Amino acid sequence: MGLVVGLEEKLPSGFLLTTVEKLAGYMRKNSLWPATFGLACCAIEMMAAGAGRYDLARFGMEVFRASPRQADLMIVAGRVSNKMAPVVRQIYDQMAAPKWTIAMGACASSGGMFNNYAIVQGVDHIIPVDIYLPGCPPRPEMLMDAILKLHEQIGNEKLGPNREKIIKEVEAAALAAKPTNQLKGLLA
Ligand code: SF4
Repeated sequence: MGLVVGLEEKLPSGFLLTTVEKLAGYMRKNSLWPATFGLACCAIEMMAAGAGRYDLARFGMEVFRASPRQADLMIVAGRVSNKMAPVVRQIYDQMAAPKWTIAMGACASSGGMFNNYAIVQGVDHIIPVDIYLPGCPPRPEMLMDAILKLHEQIGNEKLGPNREKIIKEVEAAALAAKPTNQLKGLLA
């Protein structure tokens, strides 16, 4: 994986890149290591997913690491307070690249029921999010489903010039998006 990280921005486009992309995606999706990190009640469900009854390890999904340097998946399990926001960002910055994020539960995804000054209204305000998992709390099966969906996403991820193009498109879409405080949801 480390070799691919160094090479990927210099890769040519075309058939060779497609083959390398498939290989890198296969290796990356099957070697996800989540950071050991929980914020609130959703973290209890995440722990249950790793324990005997659900046993994430059966799918090769849980080598929970105590050090962010050894992790490439952040599962934001629970609400993020403004006080914790810089800590979450620091842990994310310390994780190995390439890295991915799951916003687990309503609070991590949007602030949930805590629409107040103390809670970040969606963790995507401080770190990029790959999968939003609904629920309060989501059950362990739902977390496993989210990780499987993330596997699919990683397996099809682009590298080199293709990746740069996609990042530019995503950034342009984010800049053009309506601010969350102007979204009315079902009340519109
Ligand atoms: S989504 Fe529900 S279970 Fe999860 S942190 Fe928020 S209040 Fe707790």
